[in-house]
Amino acid sequence: MSDVAQEKVNISTASRPSEAVDVLIPEVDNYVAYTLKTQKVLPPVQWSNLLNELNWISFVVLTLPPAVGVVGAFYVRLQWQTAVWSVAYYFLTGLGITAGYHRLWAHRAYNASLPLQYLLALLGAGSIQGSIKWWCRNHRAHHRYTDTDLDPYSAHRGFWYSHIGWMLIKHRRKPGAADVSDLRHNFVVRWQHKHYFSLILIMAFILPTLVAYLAWGDAKGGFIYAGVIRLVFVHHSTFCVNSLAHWLGETPFDDKHTSRDHLVTALLTIGEGYHNFHHQFPMDYRNAIKWYQYDPTKWTIWIMSQVGLASHLKVFPDNEVRKGQLTMELKSLRRMQEKLAWPSDSDDLPVISWESFTSQAERRPLLLISGFIHDVSNFIEEHPGGEYLLRKYVGKDATTAFFGGVYDHSNAAHNLLAMNRVGVLRGGSPHSLTDKRGVPPSQRLRVARYTELLTTGSSSAYSDEENDSL
Ligand SMILES: [Zn+2]
Ligand SMILES: [Zn+2]
Repeated sequence: MSDVAQEKVNISTASRPSEAVDVLIPEVDNYVAYTLKTQKVLPPVQWSNLLNELNWISFVVLTLPPAVGVVGAFYVRLQWQTAVWSVAYYFLTGLGITAGYHRLWAHRAYNASLPLQYLLALLGAGSIQGSIKWWCRNHRAHHRYTDTDLDPYSAHRGFWYSHIGWMLIKHRRKPGAADVSDLRHNFVVRWQHKHYFSLILIMAFILPTLVAYLAWGDAKGGFIYAGVIRLVFVHHSTFCVNSLAHWLGETPFDDKHTSRDHLVTALLTIGEGYHNFHHQFPMDYRNAIKWYQYDPTKWTIWIMSQVGLASHLKVFPDNEVRKGQLTMELKSLRRMQEKLAWPSDSDDLPVISWESFTSQAERRPLLLISGFIHDVSNFIEEHPGGEYLLRKYVGKDATTAFFGGVYDHSNAAHNLLAMNRVGVLRGGSPHSLTDKRGVPPSQRLRVARYTELLTTGSSSAYSDEENDSL
């Protein structure tokens, strides 16, 4: 049995108890509500308990590099080779997080060969954001309990909390349960976790310094710019996925949660800015689905698959993606529809006899079209075809004339006419949905909730009461 196989056997037997504890979810109807009610919570952070409640390791990792970077940049001149190397190393270590920690290990969006896994684990260590195991455990809880108090970096707790605050202070409550047993079986993940401290020193500081020193003799610049300052940029680039990507932009796929899509976030996060899509389809290896959208992480994974280092790139069916987009577009159209005034329905109008209609038409201009009685007094003088044509039909059935007998009216004319409905003729044309002429063009295609569709068809009820006053 090889060492790796031996390792696997040991893991599967030795790690079972802690695994079971980690993914233990009580059998309750609502896990989130139950946990929020029963779980112990640390007291709120105040000035008086701040020093006790700070997470000192994270605090040092997040505050020391910016301070050293600012002072260092003051004393160390930036050489152009070092500048290029710093930017390149920013992208490389950033990809360790986006293509490695995030899309490979947290979401299993593709399979990576062993050499690529080691490379991503090393680069990810160079961005000092905790081990893969720790990072993915929080990120899976973030997806599972998005925006609730079990989400470790819930956007509802404010921009700065989700950006950095959640790491600076001790968690007020434990993040919701998330299954990371697959990662515990992953040899590379275990290896990185075990040697994490040495790996971050080598990858975050020693390697970038050494490259600049050996290639163009700039050890100090390599340390300050490609090491320290690059690290600060990578930190805040990733943090923007938790803050900015839940705050800035549009929700083209779903608006249930705070995640959003925006180009600016994508530019700042090596392509993780299409976060609304990502929260809907987290196992998709893409964040941007259009070829012209900025997603270098997706491009990298694709290139890796082309050279044989990655495989099984997961893509959600386009049909399902478009359903989300359609729903959001319909919602927007619905809002527009609700802002407009619509004609009265036959249910809401009084039912009038023929005799009553003709006698009332002597006092004001009433026309009968498609079984609806219309009062055209506001319109008669502005009728594009002339007042005479309208007067000719007052007190009469003008249906045929209106529907092309005299003039084939525009859709706008049909819509406008319907706004002048004042009654329904008893025994007139049926006003059901099967009679197209009774439905103005603007209402033939509408956005309706499914509960509204269930009640459709009962709208042709007539009142027995004669109402002479219209
Ligand atoms: Zn998110
Ligand atoms: Zn994610």
